[in-house]
Amino acid sequence: MKVGFIGLGIMGRPMCKNLLKAGYEVTAYDLYAAAALDDVVSCGAVRGTSNADVASKSDVVITMVPNSPNVRAAVFDKGGIAEDAKEGLDIIDMSSIAPLESKKIAEDCAKQGINMMDAPVSGGEPKAIDGTLSIMCGGPKAMFDKYTELLNVMGASVVHCGDVNGAGNTVKLANQIIVAVNIAACAEAYSLSTMAGVDPEKVFEAIRGGLAGSTVMDAKVPMMMDRNFKPGFRIDLHIKDLNNALDTGHGLGTPMLLTSAVQEMMQWLHNNGEGSSDHSAILKFYENITGTEVHR
Ligand code: NAD
Repeated sequence: MKVGFIGLGIMGRPMCKNLLKAGYEVTAYDLYAAAALDDVVSCGAVRGTSNADVASKSDVVITMVPNSPNVRAAVFDKGGIAEDAKEGLDIIDMSSIAPLESKKIAEDCAKQGINMMDAPVSGGEPKAIDGTLSIMCGGPKAMFDKYTELLNVMGASVVHCGDVNGAGNTVKLANQIIVAVNIAACAEAYSLSTMAGVDPEKVFEAIRGGLAGSTVMDAKVPMMMDRNFKPGFRIDLHIKDLNNALDTGHGLGTPMLLTSAVQEMMQWLHNNGEGSSDHSAILKFYENITGTEVHR
């Protein structure tokens, strides 16, 4: 199986390297990240010269780019995947994008004889490096079955969420809502306890094993206490996910009260120069109001 990999950012680069380590023949390309392309080529990837070039050399192409317009561009722009795709090419889009747009792109691909599955991931850079991502797939079950083994190289959990294209991205939106609200709850609670004069390390020690404990608390509160806001997952990418969640919720008539509150916090952070910080920097929204810093 010849694999193409497009988008070698924080996530794509280690995911591509894991495929190479597992012995897959991979042709890789990124529109901008020249150093990342050099890196994966030094690990054994074939250097792609465009998205179309990757498609021409592959049976299946993985895309890992920021948002819906980037996926559409990677497939349909001049020099895109569709320009040089073999008959019956499969695309696995692992980016986190709007579910409706994911469905539309799959429909447009089908018109050109290209099959598509959405397979967004959760777990961030550390799990991309370890090959232990959670992968949520949407699209025909037969395509899921065909690529389960490939996806297992990058993930510890690979779940078929539905036969409809976009089902994986719907599940990813649920994930992003829960993560965002959980981080904001931690930021609020740790600001409160710091202002009340309790050492945040004691708060962490006392509650992380109880009902309030979470993977989010374990990953993000130590970053807050260390004042380490290096991404990780950038505020700007999380704003993109929450905007996609709000659009989807508004379309369906679902109240999105908590999501919109955290989206506003993140938007404020973006406007104040924190768009490229890790999403744990939601803490800074509270600190700006309270004038009190949380630290060890
Ligand atoms: P990133 O911005 O670091 O990387 C994206 C890469 O895509 C960039 O190198 C960019 O040059 C490339 N690119 C953009 N448009 C392109 C095109 N048309 N053709 C070729 N390459 C193109 O982003 P990331 O953090 O790696 O995230 C990628 C996706 O994974 C996003 O949808 C994000 O929401 C999702 N995600 C990220 C994380 C995380 O922790 N970073 C976790 C889970 C999911």
